[in-house]
Amino acid sequence: MAISPLMPVYPRCDVAPVRGEGAYLYDAQGRKWLDFASGIAVNLLGHGHPHLTQAIQKQAATLMHVSNLYGSPQQMAVAERLVALTFADTIFFTNSGAEAVECTIKTVRAYHYATGNPQRYKIITFSNAFHGRTLATIAATDQEKLRKGFEPLPDWFHVLPFNDLAAAEAAIDESTAGFLVEPIQGEGGVRPATVEFLKGLRALADKYGILLALDEVQCGMARTGTLFAHEQYGITPDVMASAKGIGGGFPVGACLATEKAAAGMVAGTHGSTYGGNPLAMAACGAVLDIVAEPEFLDAVKAKGERLRAALEQMIPNHDLFDHVRGMGLMLGLKLTADSRAFVAHARSSHGLLTVAAGDNVVRILPPLTIDESHIRECVEKLSAAAATFQVPQAA
Ligand SMILES: *Cc1c(COP(=O)(O)O)cnc(C)c1O
Repeated sequence: MAISPLMPVYPRCDVAPVRGEGAYLYDAQGRKWLDFASGIAVNLLGHGHPHLTQAIQKQAATLMHVSNLYGSPQQMAVAERLVALTFADTIFFTNSGAEAVECTIKTVRAYHYATGNPQRYKIITFSNAFHGRTLATIAATDQEKLRKGFEPLPDWFHVLPFNDLAAAEAAIDESTAGFLVEPIQGEGGVRPATVEFLKGLRALADKYGILLALDEVQCGMARTGTLFAHEQYGITPDVMASAKGIGGGFPVGACLATEKAAAGMVAGTHGSTYGGNPLAMAACGAVLDIVAEPEFLDAVKAKGERLRAALEQMIPNHDLFDHVRGMGLMLGLKLTADSRAFVAHARSSHGLLTVAAGDNVVRILPPLTIDESHIRECVEKLSAAAATFQVPQAA
């Protein structure tokens, strides 16, 4: 038998952490990394945060799981808090980001079915999007590397250029159900939507009676300095997917919707065995206790500005670095060479964890709890890694 006991779908690197503490990870040999990847924007309170771990421990010992067939005071309490904090009137909890996006897509489709327009079933999405790895969510992107080997896929997504409002309007017809868009594309290369684009999509949705759905799985949950990124664009969606940071490391996702947009999500239309179980809700509640506070959000914004300024100061010293983009603590460092090779080099030779993204961008996604010393350490490590980086020869 040559196949790994783990289905070999990940090209796993040699970092094998067994313990985490704040912004650091340690392996069994005591090797240490500064974690500015946060499990891809998940561990927003860092590792081993006492409030989060205690909430999970306490709930695990009290009641871990009940079916969604039963009432759940724990789930209701978190839903009420999210409703109070956001545009949403109603929430469905999931176990992952892709499931949150699936529920978002179903909500959009069900809305038109329930309001007598079942012919509106096509969803407009955008180039280089990442919405997850299920069959529907890979159908929602034009990224070849995600689709390859799985075609034919559902053909009810229409992928258009990102940030091109005119193309979006031109594509609307009687089959269009809505838009699905990341306010800041994460995996695609930390590309923020322009304000004109998101405001324009909102206006088009209103004009044509279709829905605006946002995928805030990566950019949401305080990462940009507001609870959700769209708050900084001055718009609200009709439906939104959240996940990643929302459980601080515990698998949780959520589909949030207005009452109007949820018109079709009636009893029997959707479900999940685990979704929003008491243990997940304890994690989500503990995360909200901390990140929904205005002082915490302001601190994320200030740290984001500090980190961005420090990166910008470093850029002219290295030909490798081109520019910084993103918002808050969701930053992308654009390279003039292969970002995957550089991320691997920074990891193996300088003890810094970051994440590669499309367009030769290095994603910098630290825990939101970092302080000035971590910012300095990250920039020092990036600078040292750039100085020792051998640009791979083009094949
Ligand atoms: C990570 C991600 C997803 C998928 O989340 P999973 O939990 O991996 O299923 C969907 N959308 C965006 C924007 C993401 O970053």
